[in-house]
Amino acid sequence: MQRYRKMDKLQIARINKYNVFRCLIRQSPINRAAIAKLTDLSIPTVMSIVDDLFEKGMVRSIGKGESSGGKPPEMLEIVPDRFFYIGVDIGRTTIRVVANNIISEQIACLQEPTGEPFPEKLFVERLCKLVLQLVKHLHAKKECILGVGIAMPGLIENETGNVIFSPDFGWNHIPLRTWLQARLPYPIIVENANRALALNESYIPGEEDHTHTTFSVNLGYGIGAGLVLGEDLYTGASGTSGEIGHITVEPDGPACKCGNIGCLEAVASGAAIAREGQRIMGEGVPSKITELCGADPDRIDAKLVFRAANLGDEIALNIIDRAAEYIGIGLSMAVNVLDPDRVVLCGGLMKNGPLFFDKIKASLQKHQMRQVGRRMMISMETKGEYSTANGACRVLANTLWWQRKLPI
Ligand SMILES: [Zn+2]
Repeated sequence: MQRYRKMDKLQIARINKYNVFRCLIRQSPINRAAIAKLTDLSIPTVMSIVDDLFEKGMVRSIGKGESSGGKPPEMLEIVPDRFFYIGVDIGRTTIRVVANNIISEQIACLQEPTGEPFPEKLFVERLCKLVLQLVKHLHAKKECILGVGIAMPGLIENETGNVIFSPDFGWNHIPLRTWLQARLPYPIIVENANRALALNESYIPGEEDHTHTTFSVNLGYGIGAGLVLGEDLYTGASGTSGEIGHITVEPDGPACKCGNIGCLEAVASGAAIAREGQRIMGEGVPSKITELCGADPDRIDAKLVFRAANLGDEIALNIIDRAAEYIGIGLSMAVNVLDPDRVVLCGGLMKNGPLFFDKIKASLQKHQMRQVGRRMMISMETKGEYSTANGACRVLANTLWWQRKLPI
């Protein structure tokens, strides 16, 4: 029976080393005795592990700390720029690439418009060029790059890195990781973009006890979500958790690109808001939307509808109210089921000011069960345009950690 198998000495030594390393990443500057206390290891074991990390250039001394009676202890810290994670956010409008160091600080970044994702192989070649461009900028040797985390919208098979279905990209069964792996000399993982974003948004700097449950919803051109339990993503039995955009909120509603009818995404996403603006203009109803787009329906996007709403246009305000109402209904279902500590609303739609956030909150309060979610905090994303790419780095870091594949 696997579950009762005793660990051998080598496995225990490896776990001890990982724990000391994580302690140094999170608690630097720190002395050896404090590491021993936090990890519950003996001081000789910590000394031996730290010596090894010194030899590998991963830890350095930063002088003496304060004495608590005896000799002042030597303070240690992790060498932050010894290794890097690369994160790629393949957005429908923009591709963003970041390089983060071992303590998750963003060191470098670049972005360019996504353009047409066809033919798929040529698009993947472009991605590789962007990754190599950023690596070159770091002046880092090949072995200093720990891997590349890819955040991609759509259904992703985690074990293989295959994109099963990406409606935003029109991709079906694309072996993304295999294609990237053939061109890049680093370990590669592929994760759903909403989940990568959720992992980054769940992280609170300085928080020691990472036990919170965070439900993060990405409200943009499409709608998706990610659930983070403590420090780990919940992916689901078949790797497809988080599809809040495809729950039915209007059984007789419009068709959704997933093949169902009346999905949240079909009535409340950025694309749905734009479509509604175009429909109303097509019916000849006078509004600021028509003025702002110069009577050209192709220029109507969600941003323009929000602009009209912020100018007080009743028609635009109705469209926004309706979208917020549906999002609140969708959120109430998730909150009733999950009772999370935190809900974070992210994505392009949240960049249109606090009005939309307040309307969603009001709808959520109206629809959620009164007794549920009393301890829940709800907030807007604060981590900026590279949050998904940084999340891809975090997914990679977690994967390498659990697979014990860090070079320590
Ligand atoms: Zn759908």
